[in-house]
Amino acid sequence: MFDKNYKFTCVERFLKYVKYDTQSDDESKSFPSTEKQKILSKDLADELKKIGIEDSHMDDYGYVMGTVPSNTSKNVPPIGFISHVDTSPAVSGKDVNPVINKNYPGGDIKLKEGNQVIKADENPDLSEMIGYDIITTDGRTLLGADNKAGVAEIMDAVNYLLSHPELKHGPVKVCFTPDEEVGRGTEKFDVKKFGAKYAYTVDGQTRGEVESETFSADGVTIKFHGKNIHPGYAKGKMINAVKIAASFIESLPKEKLSPETTEKREGYVHCVSVNANEELATLKFIIRDFKTPKLKEYEDFLKGLAEKAVQIFPGSRLDFEITEQYRNMKEILDQHPMVVDYAVEAMRRLNIKPIMQPIRGGTDGARLSFMGLPTPNIFAGEHSFHSKLEWVAIQDMETAVRVIVEICKVWEENS
Ligand SMILES: [Zn+2]
Repeated sequence: MFDKNYKFTCVERFLKYVKYDTQSDDESKSFPSTEKQKILSKDLADELKKIGIEDSHMDDYGYVMGTVPSNTSKNVPPIGFISHVDTSPAVSGKDVNPVINKNYPGGDIKLKEGNQVIKADENPDLSEMIGYDIITTDGRTLLGADNKAGVAEIMDAVNYLLSHPELKHGPVKVCFTPDEEVGRGTEKFDVKKFGAKYAYTVDGQTRGEVESETFSADGVTIKFHGKNIHPGYAKGKMINAVKIAASFIESLPKEKLSPETTEKREGYVHCVSVNANEELATLKFIIRDFKTPKLKEYEDFLKGLAEKAVQIFPGSRLDFEITEQYRNMKEILDQHPMVVDYAVEAMRRLNIKPIMQPIRGGTDGARLSFMGLPTPNIFAGEHSFHSKLEWVAIQDMETAVRVIVEICKVWEENS
């Protein structure tokens, strides 16, 4: 049983972490993408040490790792919990001024500044939050609950485990990563050094979420080569690559297979940029589906359309290049069903209804799963992230702490 007298520390920690500006930068080539992330990470490593994690440290890239040693005679596999310290490049995370809205009465939440309103009808989860205490911004910045809520929850769970030695658990590994928001959170992640056999990212939204399915994703670059010549002398000679690109784009499906016309388990092909002049048109696509073989179908489909476009403009030609991005982590997690099963079991024990929906995107956990560390995602309670309307409920954060502790317990009992 969870200690009813335990004084949670996650909120206090969270309010401290959001004061650090840890915005990552998708233009940067360095690692981490911004040095300022390491200021928080260094302090997190020290904080872990202070609460009793002897091996806690931050490496040169800004990854913080540490271990809660096993306190059982059973042979329990090392389990990891991971969250990221950076915040989205989309909205400023400087001088965040969190506001606690106690005892939420329902309805919209008006923020202090900038006529920002968190609308109840755009946030269906708010209807579950009546009477809860909701942390928002003052309307000027994002909050950074994505993913500092996760950091604070993991930190609090570690604190709980260390202060309750009667609760038996195996080795518990924690890691705080940089650069998740710019898709590089696993770039320098040393899975071997981390030492966990299975892990959970704590970066989901709604209470009860256990996410074990992501998109499979590829990038496609199509180049149409035309032929440029001075327009005054172009008759019968010029082949304008801009027009080839336009013809090709016009042939793309409008009613289906696009992000704006699909949902749930439907995949899509999506043109994200066109860069063109007479000589060369470069088009970038992202291709997404839950079934990896579908990607090949979509790619063949695009290639077919591109070849048709080239046929309309004799003398032109095309290059077609595919880059693998990430794969549906379910392909890996299905080989280790207990990782998800134990998270679900932990939630059931705490009377939380598990929510298992596929994510129409990727996670660091998806990449880690394919790097040899099966890693589903569990909720941290963060909502409307990457925006000034971001919010998190204190009660959800505390529930996440209990879930993390319970997962450790379930692994010990089932080993
Ligand atoms: Zn996140």
